Amino acid sequence: MTAVVDTSLSPQARLRPVPIRAVRLTDTFWEPRRQLNRTVSLREQHRMLEETGRFHNLRVAAGLERGSSSGKIFNDSDVHKWMEAACWQLATDEDSWLVERVDAILELLEQAQEPDGYLFSPFVRGLRGQRWSDGEAHELYCAGHLFQAAVAHHRVTGSDRALGISRRFADLICATFGEGRGKLDRPDGHPEIEMALVELYRETGDAGYLEQACFQIDARGHKRLGEPYAGWISADYNQDHRPLRERDRPEGHAVRDLYLQSGITDRLLEVADPALQSAQMRIWESLVRGQVYVTGGVGVRDVSEAFGRDYELPNETAYAETCAAVALIMWNWRLLQLTGEARFADLIETGLYNGMLSGVSIDGREYFYANPLACNGGLKRRPWYLVACCPPNIARTLASLPGYLYGADDERGVWIHQYAAGQATVGAARLAVETSYPWAGDVRVEVRSAGTFALRLRVPGWASDARLTVNGADPSVAVEAGTYAVLSRDWRPGDVVELSLPMRVRRLASHPGLLENAGRVALTRGPLVYCVEQADVGGADPRFLEVAAGSEIKASRRPDLLGGVTVLESPAWAAPPEAAWNGRLYREAEAVRQGDGEPVRLTAIPYFAWANREAGRMQVWLREPPPR
Ligand SMILES: [Zn+2]
Repeated sequence: MTAVVDTSLSPQARLRPVPIRAVRLTDTFWEPRRQLNRTVSLREQHRMLEETGRFHNLRVAAGLERGSSSGKIFNDSDVHKWMEAACWQLATDEDSWLVERVDAILELLEQAQEPDGYLFSPFVRGLRGQRWSDGEAHELYCAGHLFQAAVAHHRVTGSDRALGISRRFADLICATFGEGRGKLDRPDGHPEIEMALVELYRETGDAGYLEQACFQIDARGHKRLGEPYAGWISADYNQDHRPLRERDRPEGHAVRDLYLQSGITDRLLEVADPALQSAQMRIWESLVRGQVYVTGGVGVRDVSEAFGRDYELPNETAYAETCAAVALIMWNWRLLQLTGEARFADLIETGLYNGMLSGVSIDGREYFYANPLACNGGLKRRPWYLVACCPPNIARTLASLPGYLYGADDERGVWIHQYAAGQATVGAARLAVETSYPWAGDVRVEVRSAGTFALRLRVPGWASDARLTVNGADPSVAVEAGTYAVLSRDWRPGDVVELSLPMRVRRLASHPGLLENAGRVALTRGPLVYCVEQADVGGADPRFLEVAAGSEIKASRRPDLLGGVTVLESPAWAAPPEAAWNGRLYREAEAVRQGDGEPVRLTAIPYFAWANREAGRMQVWLREPPPR
């Protein structure tokens, strides 16, 4: 089945997956982006893989071209991730160009693979170094991406070709790494292979892969990787500093930790381990208590791409790598499968609409690596990066998105996690959803099949005062923000459920520990976080803009702007500081009141849409000084 993560036989899973192919999106938000992903992003990315020598490296490894292996040592992973994205896209779309490119990559991989299964182009035949010689070479990280691509290929095409390549390499890895005599007893520097091995186990039934995933997880945290970056990066960088069951917060390189946590949850879906699960919950709670941006961005530090201290969430220097937002979605998706708890689906929603989506331009051609929440000008997305992990990570997320919307369970239950117009078949139930989410909060679900089951609809954490009707009548069930509303009944074709999620504009304040945001508010509406760009406030500096405290903020639809967005408008003041501050650095606080500057009309746009016009300043957290 074309499941993003196949928990259909996982003994510990609360939820069973709904295949991508069982969901047909007809909405105007995600489906156009998926089509742009197919027709523009994947084609442009493929061109970049060629132009930047990623394919050349594999051809050199295959002995088809002369020259040396060049570029970053983990460049194979971009090819694998691109292939995974192409396969997920092919789950719903016919595209012979993509089919041909995927087949060509598989042919190349078969030619580059050594007879014993080894397949990592820099170390094939010792080209740039010896296999297994360097825990930080991303050898198993690249293998993990290859396995994920192969699992996607198998689920979508039914062909064993990619799976065969992967199994040969995975078998070699299983024979090489472990606790026994003559085996390498260390994990890989960059987690990723853990979740890939669990998925390879699910796809093949070979328990050796699950065993190897467990080894990779348990081997970490015992300082077996040494200190490859000693002196400039902290010891928690690759999560090898402390046994995982003893940890209680996110630590080190954010993408590494979140990929690791995803792999651990994949393991927990297969094998119960209370100590490991409680460590995961402690880490998750610590993350949401003090280490995640309002956009779902994570990982604040530029130098080591790492998590910071609690409430260390700087706006302008935020790292918030696009891949970390993708990894946050991946981890929370697995936690949702494990528990069925709405808080994980809430965080997925925040990540999808904000932290992940800001990583790609509206035309699908350019990408952000870091996603700051404030900009003093000059930042632009780029078509590619020397380290190009983010572009194909966005591509595989968009391609597989239909697989993240629904869920099933063992009691024939139907779960709706995220709202988008379209049709879905969940087990025996058929549904048709109409909504213009995220712009409006009305969701109409028509049941198109007969049957007795519980239909669960997520009421997002932000949606207080949500209302629910069935065939126009109050069903008398709990409809609480941050939970699933449960409608258990004998359904008839034509039954209609209407969920109304109030899309009021909210002003969010930060915990006082987040010092940088003191006296500032972030505007949100539904799942979307908003920001102000210089272009929308007459060239004023959004950092100094004052939003009028308590003012009514109006939402209006702007079909002409940024591909069609709903903007927020409010009275505000552009506050050129010098007018009131007159060269001073400090003033008596009582003197600082709103309205120091010129009145302007504030127009805020969704954060994901920023930096799609001329480069300029941007600000999410807006000043809201006390009234005069
Ligand atoms: Zn990245």
